[in-house]
Amino acid sequence: MASFDVIFLGGGPAGYVGAIRCAQLGLNTAVVEREGLGGTCVLWGCIPAKALLEAGHIADRLKHAPEFGVTPGEVKLDFGVAMKRSRAVSSQNSKGVEFLFKKNKITWIRGTAKLAGKNSVSVKTADGKEEKHDAKKAVVISTGSRVKGLPQIGLELNKKTVISSDEALILEKAPKSIIIVGAGAVGSEFADVFNAFGSQVTLVEVMPSVLPVEDADSSKEVERSFRKRGIAVLTGAKISSVKVGRDSVSMSIEAGGEKKDYKSDIVLVAAGRAPNVEDIGLKEQGVQLTDRGFIKIDKKMQTSVPGIYAIGDVIDGPMLAHKASEDGVACVETLAGQKGHVDWDLVPSVIYTQPEVAWVGKTEEQLKAAGVAYKVGKYPFLADPRSRANAATEGFAKVLADKATDEVLGVHIIGAEAGTMIAEAAMAMEFKASAEDVGRVCHAHPTVNEALKEAALAAWEKPIHL
Ligand SMILES: Cc1cc2nc3c(=O)[nH]c(=O)nc-3n(C[C@H](O)[C@H](O)[C@H](O)COP(=O)(O)OP(=O)(O)OC[C@H]3O[C@@H](n4cnc5c(N)ncnc54)[C@H](O)[C@@H]3O)c2cc1C
Repeated sequence: MASFDVIFLGGGPAGYVGAIRCAQLGLNTAVVEREGLGGTCVLWGCIPAKALLEAGHIADRLKHAPEFGVTPGEVKLDFGVAMKRSRAVSSQNSKGVEFLFKKNKITWIRGTAKLAGKNSVSVKTADGKEEKHDAKKAVVISTGSRVKGLPQIGLELNKKTVISSDEALILEKAPKSIIIVGAGAVGSEFADVFNAFGSQVTLVEVMPSVLPVEDADSSKEVERSFRKRGIAVLTGAKISSVKVGRDSVSMSIEAGGEKKDYKSDIVLVAAGRAPNVEDIGLKEQGVQLTDRGFIKIDKKMQTSVPGIYAIGDVIDGPMLAHKASEDGVACVETLAGQKGHVDWDLVPSVIYTQPEVAWVGKTEEQLKAAGVAYKVGKYPFLADPRSRANAATEGFAKVLADKATDEVLGVHIIGAEAGTMIAEAAMAMEFKASAEDVGRVCHAHPTVNEALKEAALAAWEKPIHL
């Protein structure tokens, strides 16, 4: 038995970042992690998925290369090589977290953790031994989330023909055909990956549009871009008559008033994730859940049991790595007597498709529903000099500002570098900037960020270059 100030259950972006900040604040910290450090993000999510997406992006750039006077040899795509690299990047990042643990003198307890009391955690190690550890100040639950299938429509995950993102990230070759169920961030990104590697992709979404939570303008633009690249997109779709075979899956899909039969080698279910709340002793300790099955917390991220906290995907809010990490930092800063704070309304979202989609703050649909009077400033990348120089003119930047005060309420960007650009918008909104403020900031020329400046000017008064 060892004794610590704080023990984290789970070493994903919530737990590992929280632990580093905790150690920086002088607390004796341990993290129980049963797999590798870095969690879903590093091992099965953000990092390996982006490494694969980059292969597709490179191939796409090479297609445009002759326009720039650069004519490469025959472009060949090797899924096996891209996958091997993706796994290597993932384990390199995980080792990086391990290095940071050593640097900050954080103890990694390898095993599966369970709450054993308000200040105590039991751990089952890989060799079956049971250990107990004390957490004098707090236990922080950061057990994250896991993939889920759709058994209710016959799509139970079998890891072979019906797979989740976990299996998609270790496939040895790209399937000839794939049906992806769910056109949120994960489904849309994999549609991009498999399309780039030559699979015949059908993307199916039950809601009326792809990326259903994003601003309607961006969703439409992504759908258009997907269709242009040969991805079959079925929205407002209803799946029935699913038959799962050994080497293929067939189903009927009704969309756009038409019902048709579809068959593919693989079905990838990307219909959301479930919080890891089972078998960690929540009920025994009296930790309550919300109606949606996440751990209930208060403003300090404390659960219904004093001394037990929860952060990241296991609590409500956007299921994103950077949000999970900010939860971790805010939670331990509060524990250490500081004023920890995260504004979940200002968590930027990025979807790393081609083109990328990024947003922060409110959508037009949300502002309309809330009865807020707003102004819209929109600027296409086609009008942006750097984007034209880069032959990356798809998409636009859109700024939504309060009609009365000019405060920026939402920014939506779809374009080659939207994911990088959105940080400027998040920063502006964090400081409650007006559209005029953003429009008057001197932006370096020529940079793609000038499109955001112009969109802000358009929301305030008038853009210069349109
Ligand atoms: C394919 C995919 C792509 C994604 N891409 C992005 C992206 O581009 N950007 C982004 O922001 N987010 C992305 N996400 C989401 C992101 O990965 C999660 O939001 C983030 O990892 C949540 O962090 P977390 O620490 O709360 O949980 P997790 O990362 O899930 O970590 C929880 C950890 O706890 C461990 N654990 C669970 N139970 C126990 C136990 N009882 N004992 C010991 N250890 C335990 C698990 O092994 C895991 O390592 C993606 C997700 C997927 C699936």
